[in-house]
Amino acid sequence: MAWYSKAITEKKQQIGSFWVKCKQCRSHIWQEQWNENLWVCPNCNYHGSINAFQRIEQIFDKNTFKELFAGIGPVDSLHFNDLKGSYADKIIANKKKTGISESVVTGHGKIHNIAAVASIMDFRFLGGSLGSATGEKILQGANYAYDHQLPYIVFSASGGARMQEGVLSLMQMAKTCAGVARLNKKNVPFISVLTNPTTGGVTASYAMMGDINISEPGAVIGFAGRRVIEQTIGEKLPDDFQTAEYLLDHGFVDAIVDRKDMKDYLGKVLAYYNR
Ligand SMILES: [Zn+2]
Repeated sequence: MAWYSKAITEKKQQIGSFWVKCKQCRSHIWQEQWNENLWVCPNCNYHGSINAFQRIEQIFDKNTFKELFAGIGPVDSLHFNDLKGSYADKIIANKKKTGISESVVTGHGKIHNIAAVASIMDFRFLGGSLGSATGEKILQGANYAYDHQLPYIVFSASGGARMQEGVLSLMQMAKTCAGVARLNKKNVPFISVLTNPTTGGVTASYAMMGDINISEPGAVIGFAGRRVIEQTIGEKLPDDFQTAEYLLDHGFVDAIVDRKDMKDYLGKVLAYYNR
């Protein structure tokens, strides 16, 4: 590499570490301002992707969150390979990249001093896909909430079922649904928070089963993608189709809450159930 192209690359990396380009309005935001604004664009309110730990920090009272079932991780039961390599290698690489064992972190903590169990999906880990271990952690979270009679909150961020696990992944839809449905028996509330994106098998199972379904603004929420539906029904879909706002208008989502207000909103919901 010529010295000048190396210098340009270094300069770009330097600038890139200071500025964030908003995916929606394309404006450049100072990294610091972006972080302080909880990874939400101060210009257009675009809610950028955050990882499970950032969400835990934003939602739970300081130092109250304790992780549960951290040892549950993915297994390559089918010895799956595709053109880009093996699933086993992808698992190792994703664990290293994210520092977590699966696409969800389950635990319990306090929100405005009210105890709750939560599973927080992390899109960085294989697109937040629903693998067997993801389903197991979500189910175990529900069981823990059931046993301790604590409210259960799931924050979804997922591209859907995990292709590399085939039917074992699809099975998680029924398993997780059974787990959260059982909470009704003990009047344990289940609150589902849908974040961008919540699609495929996750939308088609536990994510839409909340006693209250809350979404972040602008989140894409849907089952099949726009193109697949348009080709199937032979019709053009409205521009806001599969957004949180569209779902709110059509009664599938109960509220849209800005990230900066989410903790207070959840605190109020928990206080209501706690009466
Ligand atoms: Zn923006």
